[in-house]
Amino acid sequence: MKIGFIGLGNMGGPMAANLLKAGHEVTGFDVAKPTLDALAKAGGKPVTAAAAAVAQAEIVVTMLPAGPHVRQVYAGEGGVLAAVKPGALLIDSSTIDVETARTVAKAAAERGFDMLDAPVSGGVGGAAAGTLTFMVGGSEAGFARALPALQAMGKTIVHAGPSGNGQAAKICNNMILGISMIAVSEGFALAERLGLDWQRLFDISSKSSGQCWSMTNYCPAPGPVPAAPSNRDYQAGFTADMMLKDLKLAQQAAQASGATTPLGAEAAALFQMLVNGGFGAKDFSAVFRMIRGAGRG
Ligand code: NAD
Repeated sequence: MKIGFIGLGNMGGPMAANLLKAGHEVTGFDVAKPTLDALAKAGGKPVTAAAAAVAQAEIVVTMLPAGPHVRQVYAGEGGVLAAVKPGALLIDSSTIDVETARTVAKAAAERGFDMLDAPVSGGVGGAAAGTLTFMVGGSEAGFARALPALQAMGKTIVHAGPSGNGQAAKICNNMILGISMIAVSEGFALAERLGLDWQRLFDISSKSSGQCWSMTNYCPAPGPVPAAPSNRDYQAGFTADMMLKDLKLAQQAAQASGATTPLGAEAAALFQMLVNGGFGAKDFSAVFRMIRGAGRG
């Protein structure tokens, strides 16, 4: 298939490379020149404008930083909606607010285009390995058409419902993750103060009702889970900056919808504190260090 790819950064670059590996033709655009060189090296065709990237495309994929970028790239001057040919399928894989996802998809529909929101989890490692999880919002027909392209970039591809529901799934999941990481951090910090060894707490709690992904896959206290970022000075992984972004999106959505999310709000405040302390580029499990207290390692 002919694919137009816009946003070739840490995630988009390797995703485009996997589309090429699967035999698709990829024409790509990014405002950062080095990403275009990397696309050319991977066998893609770099161009210098969004319109040129999508002019011949059957499928457009975008992987941009945030909502305003998505609005601009699709609906702004010289944007995708004005340049793409009739019948093309539009897929935005950026993590953005639900409202922007639905607004841009509606603008696309008004021009006759099917658009999906398809945010991912799995990080840069998953993007490189082609093992991302895609959470997809939009029509059944669009989802079916998108599958071959998404399967070239990911392993688990789930239809979450109508437009915006992919983004909704992403922020609900990450709000749960942010809160559970803080809960596990508090438990392990308390254990230390009580003279309870982290490994022993892990052995007990990972088989008890406190068990969760933040503990068993990503334990924020060093030791019990050797592959966790806590054992390599909290090198990301999934950065605290990214977690804060997703928690803010969750709060925005909670306010707009009237949902009660007091722990989500507290999690956003704690990750803001971590980021303000200069640890935004560290893995989000570094929140443990802040909770454990300065001077304790
Ligand atoms: P990134 O900053 O590395 O990449 C974004 C790219 O978009 C950059 O190369 C930038 O130059 C480009 N860009 C910005 N404005 C543009 C424009 N107007 N036209 C063309 N290109 C433009 O970010 P990333 O880590 O690749 O993340 C992309 C998205 O994926 C974000 O929404 C992020 O929240 C989400 N995400 C990231 C991760 C991760 O671990 N990095 C995991 C899951 C989801």
